[in-house]
Amino acid sequence: MPYQHEKQVAIRAVTAAAQLCEQIRREQNALAITKPDRSPVTIADFGAQAVICQALAAAFPHDPVVGEEDSALLQRADMTERLSQVANYVKNQISDANPEAVTAWIDRGNGKVAPRYWTLDPIDGTKGYLRGDQYAIALGLVEEGDLKLGIMGCPAIPVDPTQPDGERGVLFVGVRNQGTTVIPLAGGEPRQICVSNTSNGDAHRLVESVESAHGNTSLQQEVTRLLGFTAPPLRMDSMVKYGVIAWGEAALYLRLPSPLSSPKRQNIWDHAAGAIVLEEAGGRVTDMYGRRLDFSCGSKLVNNQGIIASNGAIHEAVLATVKQCIKAN
Ligand code: AMP
Ligand code: MG
Repeated sequence: MPYQHEKQVAIRAVTAAAQLCEQIRREQNALAITKPDRSPVTIADFGAQAVICQALAAAFPHDPVVGEEDSALLQRADMTERLSQVANYVKNQISDANPEAVTAWIDRGNGKVAPRYWTLDPIDGTKGYLRGDQYAIALGLVEEGDLKLGIMGCPAIPVDPTQPDGERGVLFVGVRNQGTTVIPLAGGEPRQICVSNTSNGDAHRLVESVESAHGNTSLQQEVTRLLGFTAPPLRMDSMVKYGVIAWGEAALYLRLPSPLSSPKRQNIWDHAAGAIVLEEAGGRVTDMYGRRLDFSCGSKLVNNQGIIASNGAIHEAVLATVKQCIKAN
C-alpha cells in the first residue's frame, strides 16, 4: 500500500504535537503573542511546528515543508523567555531539544512548494485554541499538485460524535484512494468514516467559522436558505469543519470571500489536510466556481476563490445556487 511510511511518521508527529498543545493549554501557558500581520500566535504554534518538522526532517530529509510559522519573532531579544518555554515543552516530546535546535526545526518549515512537499499548519484556529474551543494540527502531503495524505489532529473533538460529553481527541487520516479513518488521539483502533447523504435532520446542515470576519456570513446564509437547509448552522474554528462533514455530522462548509471580489487568497496549509480527509470520506471540495483546489502554485491557492466543501451528493446543487447568488450580488 502506498504512503504507509509517510502515514505512520505523520501520525506519530501530529500526535506528539497535539500532546504538546494540550499540555500548554492545561498549564494555562497558551497566551496570545501578536504577529507582524496582527494575527495571534502562541508558544504552542511554535512548539508544534518544531516537533513535526523535526520528525519529517529525520524521516524524509529531502522533502520540503511549507509551514505557517517561522522563528523570527521568537529570536527577538524580548522573546528569550518564550523561546526557552517552547524548548522546554518540545523537550517533553524530543529529549535532546534546546532553543537553538528548536528554532532550526521551526525554520525547516519555511520550504518552498516542489513536485513533492508537505504543508503544515501547526495550530489551525489559533483563536479557537486560545478560547478553549476547537483547533486542528494539520499536515498534508502533496505530489505533483495532488493531495496524497492528510492528517488532522483535533484534541477538542469528541471521539464519538453521538457522545458529546465523552472522551475527546481524534486524528482524522485521509490517504488518496485508501479512504479516511479516525483514530482516538489516546490510541485505539482506526475506524473508517464516510459522509452522510441524508437530505434531512442534523446531518443536513452548514458548518462555518466561529469568526464571522473569516467568511461571508450573510451570503452563506442566503445560499443555505435557497438550498432549503432548516437546521441551524454549526459554528466551529479550524479545519475540524472538514472532519465533521467527513463523518456525517454536517453536509456543507462554505467559506465565501467578503467582499466576493476580495483579492485575498487562502493559504495552502489551511485546506490541504482537511480537503483530502473529506474527499476520501466521499465528499467533494472545490472553490466557489467549482474549480479543483490547485496546490501547485506556492503558499497561496492563487487559482481559487472561496471554498465549497460538501458531502458530494449536494455539491452540484450548491455550485448552481452559489452561481445564482454571485450573479445577484
Ligand atoms: P477558521 O477557524 O475556519 O475561521 O479558520 C482559521 C483560519 O482563518 C486561520 O488559519 C487563518 O489563516 C484564516 N483567517 C484569518 N483571518 C482571516 C480573514 N480575515 N479572512 C479569512 N480567513 C482568515
Ligand atoms: Mg490556519
